[in-house]
Amino acid sequence: MHRILRTTPRRLASTLSGSSQNDYTHCVIGGGVVGLAVARQLAVRHPGTSTVLLERHEMVGTETSSRNSEVIHAGLYYPAGSLKTELCVRGAEMLYELCEKARIPFRRTGKLILAQTEPELETLNALYTHALDHSIPLRFLSAREVRAREPSVTARHGALESPRTGIIDSHALMQHLHGALEDAGGDVALRSPVTAVTPLASGYRIDVPGGSVTADVVVNAAGLGAVGIANMVLPPERQLTAYYCKGTYFGYSGRPLGVRTLLYPAPVKGHGGLGTHLTLDIAGRVRFGPDVEWVGGAEDLVPGVGRVKEAVKEIRRYLPGVREEELVPDYCGVRPKIVGPEGGGVGGVDFVVRVEEGREGWVNLLGIESPGLTSSLAIAERVERLLYG
Ligand SMILES: Cc1cc2nc3c(=O)[nH]c(=O)nc-3n(C[C@H](O)[C@H](O)[C@H](O)COP(=O)(O)OP(=O)(O)OC[C@H]3O[C@@H](n4cnc5c(N)ncnc54)[C@H](O)[C@@H]3O)c2cc1C
Repeated sequence: MHRILRTTPRRLASTLSGSSQNDYTHCVIGGGVVGLAVARQLAVRHPGTSTVLLERHEMVGTETSSRNSEVIHAGLYYPAGSLKTELCVRGAEMLYELCEKARIPFRRTGKLILAQTEPELETLNALYTHALDHSIPLRFLSAREVRAREPSVTARHGALESPRTGIIDSHALMQHLHGALEDAGGDVALRSPVTAVTPLASGYRIDVPGGSVTADVVVNAAGLGAVGIANMVLPPERQLTAYYCKGTYFGYSGRPLGVRTLLYPAPVKGHGGLGTHLTLDIAGRVRFGPDVEWVGGAEDLVPGVGRVKEAVKEIRRYLPGVREEELVPDYCGVRPKIVGPEGGGVGGVDFVVRVEEGREGWVNLLGIESPGLTSSLAIAERVERLLYG
């Protein structure tokens, strides 16, 4: 039974266009952290409108939003002027504020980005300059300072310390957003996979198995399914192709490493991710990953079991004490890419957050890979601004 069918359609006098006959003012497709943040923003900030969120699974947040590193990024890696930089910096600020206010578990762990070679040190220099330009605090540590701080860590050419980086309980965040959306009168329709969309004279009809809703505005926040949804309303010449890049995480079963901060290798251009790093979860558990494996579809959620050897090679550059037999493939996530391996490296492709030309009231959110969790609240703010000015 689809909850959507039990929802009484409401006809609203006050909508964006003034006198809409549609069931809802806003329809958000996708119940990941971004869709939840957008739906909550629209519902809370616009009393007198109505919002429905459609999610294909029986729970919200079971795809990429619960298969990531849960790191609150500081905004170091992405090009100046990009949405990734702008929304990550703003999103981190908003996220820390919300965590404190709503008691969402988080920790300001800080992070070290480690250089093992001269060229890697040059990469850190470039990150430092970028951070200065964006008022993101960063500090250089010498190899000796790193050793004093984290005795098991090697950084032959020193490290950059980012005090603004932290970790968050992403499930608690999504639970909070979900609650706030419903408290503001929003509807969440689970088990509602969108199968077709039809543009109307004013607004859109969105079909799910056994029913449909109409809405003045649609926000496509379908993550790995977003390109497919976008193509339902784009003309043939503007259709997009989705690419998928899997990242496997490895649990650690060796002696406690005593590491207190997040550890990242220097980023490599064209890598597709940020390198196989060490993160801690809220409980203090160490995990390594994600690695980079281009795959043919979003369904491939089996951790790459044959990939331990390669991961250990990367990890041992900064943690020489880690052994292959101490790593176990744990879980994986898939990065939603809009450009393939040739152009999908770190910061290579920006987030797409736009009202589609010729499709009034339709907002596409595409390629929302990392730092999408960090940026979620800022993406929601931007979507609201696109719609309401
Ligand atoms: C390996 C990995 C590590 C990452 N690490 C970090 C990190 O440390 N920090 C950070 O800031 N970001 C990180 N990210 C990025 C972050 O996880 C994502 O940007 C964020 O979760 C995207 O959220 P979303 O809501 O857009 O997508 P999703 O969480 O994928 O949600 C989309 C939802 O849409 C639903 N959906 C899809 N199609 C349909 C349909 N047809 N009908 C109805 N519903 C549909 C799906 O079921 C899903 O629930 C990482 C990503 C990956 C893959």
